[in-house]
Amino acid sequence: MGDYNQLVVLDHIRRARESVSRVELAAVTGLSVQTISNVVGRLLELGLVEEGARQIAGRGKPRTLLHLRPGAGYALGAHIDPVSVTTVLLDLAGTVVDRSVVPTPDGSDAVVEAIAAEVARMRTLVPDGEVVGLGVAAPGPIDPEAGRVIHPPLMPSWGDVPLRDRMADATGLPTLLEKDVAAAMVAELWQRSTDRGGTTLFVYLGFGIGFAFAREGEVLSGSSRNAGEIGHLIVDADGPECFCGHRGCLGVSVALDRLVGEAVDGGVVPADTPRTTPTELDAAMARLAAAAEDGVGGAVAILERAGRRLARGIVIVTDLIDADSVVVGGANWERLAPYLTSAARLEFAGHATMRELHGVGVDGSAVGLWVGAVGAASRVLDAAFTPHASLLVAHPTGS
Ligand SMILES: [Zn+2]
Repeated sequence: MGDYNQLVVLDHIRRARESVSRVELAAVTGLSVQTISNVVGRLLELGLVEEGARQIAGRGKPRTLLHLRPGAGYALGAHIDPVSVTTVLLDLAGTVVDRSVVPTPDGSDAVVEAIAAEVARMRTLVPDGEVVGLGVAAPGPIDPEAGRVIHPPLMPSWGDVPLRDRMADATGLPTLLEKDVAAAMVAELWQRSTDRGGTTLFVYLGFGIGFAFAREGEVLSGSSRNAGEIGHLIVDADGPECFCGHRGCLGVSVALDRLVGEAVDGGVVPADTPRTTPTELDAAMARLAAAAEDGVGGAVAILERAGRRLARGIVIVTDLIDADSVVVGGANWERLAPYLTSAARLEFAGHATMRELHGVGVDGSAVGLWVGAVGAASRVLDAAFTPHASLLVAHPTGS
């Protein structure tokens, strides 16, 4: 799938969701009808698209409609976080065919083994040879060139792990490693049927916070692919102390251990609530969110304050990259959503520098809780089937 036009046409057919005709493809891509016919012929030969119904439009000859063949390719994705390992099987249309979530086992050996077992099981669900590869999403920082995960937070036994090669050895599949938040951003871009124009900020709320950026459908990931590590952006000069020595850093303002600590101090959750391991912290955070939902004043105050600080950070970064849309996802998003959404509306109205020029929409992830794993699998499909500007440079012609 090296041909740029071929990828462009396939991408349009995939995103259209409904069947499209060759004439419509010519109109949206700007390619000639002859070029479209040639490209579609190759896509039909490769089995990536299928012809369906004939459409009668006006007096011209009926148009044969085309649609993607979702079973023409599959990708596997795994997302590792301190609490759980999620594995998904995606088809070419981006539909989740199967998924599983298991508690994160102790140590990287056991995690590799757990993912490999799920991968082996899911591969039996689709024809042999149709799986394009495996994507693994892990907390940053990562070294994508070497395929290594380097001291992931809250996973102290990990150290520096050559995760990509170990997953490839364990599964026999081509494997890529991506930072969780960048993978989640790819999932959003891959799943959207609308056009991918504009500049988007993706905010990932897990145990901490991560940011990713995309412009015109391309993720901007930086020189070492770790862009977005701005946990030490100061969003509240009177905020909580951070280990870096400053006060009110964004990361510490929304970190699970900090919010749970405030809930314990404020008597919102019992003082003996276990909160040592990531799993315990996650459960304690769920109690805090439930208390806030029940209207417990102290709980609401904690999450509203976190929402305001987060909104402040989002507005600063939105201004920095002049984004016109913000997408928020990750395991902690649903718990913070009610408090963040209202705070963000006020913050954008009052402080965003671009507010006179354009509005900024803040939406929840379309992909939901599985976004990290779906993103890792999407990244594999994306590498294989999506036209990128870098490809255009490498292949300036083509038909
Ligand atoms: Zn800090």
